[in-house]
Amino acid sequence: MGKILDGKALAQHLGRNLAEETNSLKSHGINPKFCVINIGEDPASKVYVRSKRKKAEKIGIKQVVYQLPEDESEEDVLRLIDRLNADEEVAGLMVQLPVPDQIDVDKVIERIDPEKDVDGLTPANIGRLWMGKHFVEPATAAGIIALLDHYQIDLNGKNAVIVGRSNIVGKPLAALMLERNASVSILHSHTRDLGELTRRADILVSAVGKPHMIKAEMVKEGAVVIDVGINRVDGQLMGDVDFDQVKDKASWITPVPGGVGPLTVEFLMEEVIKLTRRQHGLD
Ligand code: NDP
Repeated sequence: MGKILDGKALAQHLGRNLAEETNSLKSHGINPKFCVINIGEDPASKVYVRSKRKKAEKIGIKQVVYQLPEDESEEDVLRLIDRLNADEEVAGLMVQLPVPDQIDVDKVIERIDPEKDVDGLTPANIGRLWMGKHFVEPATAAGIIALLDHYQIDLNGKNAVIVGRSNIVGKPLAALMLERNASVSILHSHTRDLGELTRRADILVSAVGKPHMIKAEMVKEGAVVIDVGINRVDGQLMGDVDFDQVKDKASWITPVPGGVGPLTVEFLMEEVIKLTRRQHGLD
């Protein structure tokens, strides 16, 4: 069986370091603070907001949640973003996705000051990411790179195949893997013969949201398999990868839960601290 890439343990370890760093900032009168704007009642969003709050509390970061009604107007959301952009106490700011239909998600994200864009989703920060000149990294992608680094899995010259091309996972991860000199392919719902391409992967990442779609026959013997997918099936959390089948073929594999998920929350906090330090000219 492949060895487990234990994201939960790594997140706990990194969390302790971050708590120390936060304490040290506080001893210099700097109080890291970030804001989450959540619009509407999406149950998954509420779970994510709660888990961020728990993590922030543990590390000593102040998190303020703006819970807005389902029918909030775009104009009011933009006004709130403007106010938080101008607030010197706020180091980081994010809008929980998805947003209700009356709100243009691109317009809302574009309004966030790139210096406070803790998710790294503004056009300016996506541009910086692809130029290799970024000061903030989307948390899930950053967490995956940290996990590979922690287990000393080198990306240089490897074939990395990412299934999924979203702005929050697939694309930023491709940029960070390219930076590490991997040869990166991004697959999506229009890709023909997915299995033929995934079988070429030394490092295979699935970020789709379809339970158990990655089967053993789609994986090369000895591949490193990273499962980003979070699917709820009959009240149970399940990844995109059919773990029981694939674990015997993979050299390394992430479990769901306990793999990429805890690192995403951890790295969001890392980004808050990075932005706080930058705001105070500490880097
Ligand atoms: P999106 O829905 O934005 O993107 C899904 C991607 O999968 C799209 O690019 C889509 O292709 C592609 N896709 C859909 N069906 C297929 C298929 N049959 N074959 C190949 N590609 C396909 O999702 P997200 O990126 O936001 O999230 C993906 C998954 O990761 C979800 O389960 C989500 O819950 C989870 N997630 C987990 C995180 C964590 O911390 N572990 C963090 C963020 C997300 P196309 O572009 O053509 O539509």
